[in-house]
Amino acid sequence: MLYIDGEWRGSHSGSSFEVTNPATGDPIGDVAAGDRQDASAAILAASVAFNGWSRITAFERSEYLHRAYHLMIERKEVLARLMTEEQGKPLKAARNEVQYAADFFLWYAEEAKRIYGEILPAPRSDQRFMVLRQPVGVVAAITPWNYPVSMITRKVAPALAAGCTIVVKPAEQTPLCAMEVFNVIHDAGIPAGVANLVPTADPGPIGDEFVTNPQVAKLTFTGSTEVGTMLAARAAGAMKRLSLELGGHAPFIVFDDADPSYAAKGASLVKFLNTGQACISPNRMYVHKSIAEPFTEVLEERVGRMRAGNGLEEGISIGPLVDAASLEKVDRQVKDAIAKGAVVRTGGERLLADGLDRGFFYAPTVLSRVNRDMEIYSNETFGPVAPVIEFDNEAEVLALANDTRYGLAAYVYTQNLGRAMRMFEGLDYGIVGINDINPTAAAAPFGGVKHSGLGREGGREGIAEFLETKLGGFSI
Ligand code: ADP
Repeated sequence: MLYIDGEWRGSHSGSSFEVTNPATGDPIGDVAAGDRQDASAAILAASVAFNGWSRITAFERSEYLHRAYHLMIERKEVLARLMTEEQGKPLKAARNEVQYAADFFLWYAEEAKRIYGEILPAPRSDQRFMVLRQPVGVVAAITPWNYPVSMITRKVAPALAAGCTIVVKPAEQTPLCAMEVFNVIHDAGIPAGVANLVPTADPGPIGDEFVTNPQVAKLTFTGSTEVGTMLAARAAGAMKRLSLELGGHAPFIVFDDADPSYAAKGASLVKFLNTGQACISPNRMYVHKSIAEPFTEVLEERVGRMRAGNGLEEGISIGPLVDAASLEKVDRQVKDAIAKGAVVRTGGERLLADGLDRGFFYAPTVLSRVNRDMEIYSNETFGPVAPVIEFDNEAEVLALANDTRYGLAAYVYTQNLGRAMRMFEGLDYGIVGINDINPTAAAAPFGGVKHSGLGREGGREGIAEFLETKLGGFSI
């Protein structure tokens, strides 16, 4: 269903699309398919609502967001189960995501009250300068399927806190999760038109409406670098503000002064989260050649023990890939690496036994002897494959790590404080984890440099993305 102007409704065309469970291939729902006209109606509703929403006090907006936070926490289990069915991640990971998603409501309920202006010294004695920070206006948001709840709240919560209104187009694979988020928004009493949802099976025309409709002030997008770049170019033509969270190709660097088994444990935990389908997932494991073997042995052993399956079952740590195309891409990258000399330490094939052939399962995989000629070395995998590459010294690995158009997340294991600081400063990435595999939180700015995006989500920075700065000069 579409959620426009405070009401659930069908699409104006009357058409709908099926949503399936990627673990079983079973249909789990039928959702109204919005089109360009629906997007336009939602933008109009958001535009009308902006007048009221941007004028109520920050305390009132904060109150609504607090309510949304509490409702989402109350509904954690329902949301998590739905997410596992629709997106495939294991239930425990789904619960963590709902918590992370709710945290954005809480954080921005608080930040709403901290949008301060400034009084500046003026050059003339009869002049006063005042700086106001005001909401940009109607926001159009496009969100991905890999984190289908938190990627919505990470945009909606700061936009609403800032006084903006919003229209969200969720990914076609995960509209049901998006609808549950909007049930929370509705039940929190957020006024009609302030937040609107337009699911669709055909994102192109809705994207067209978002980048051309003059009532849209800003586009915020999370997804692939290709689609993001294309939309950004078009939005720039209409002078829309932009925030982009795009692809990554994260290096995971283990120096010889680090404990190889501790680093391998970290690698096994972060690489296989969400079956590797995360833009901050490590894609290149650079390990110093003197510890490459002990590191790889521990990684292989840990990864070999992971169980793939339906995330609703106990003990499952690897869910399916989202669709057939993702499965093919992972398989192609692994085959290409093997053909060019990589060694499969564990995994390396599609999983078909015990009913897994109904879903899109790929065995958690560790490859050693990976080199620069392989496709996996330079392209984002978005799957459960850890490629291990050996290196010799710090300057070399820093150059290798930076030799990519991406710049989202990087990870470093070292016990040497100076080296940790040099890497933190030298890595061209928006997020650097030093002996830390989880450098994300609602309070922390998330985002990339280079082709990984523009702007930040979360933290103090996340709300600034939805504000304009206005200078007032007063002659007295
Ligand atoms: P992924 O590879 O993660 O699916 P996409 O960039 O294709 O990355 O998808 C991310 C989001 O972008 C989804 O909501 C998808 O529907 C949307 N999207 C894809 N193509 C377009 C397009 N041409 N216009 C607008 N949105 C699009």
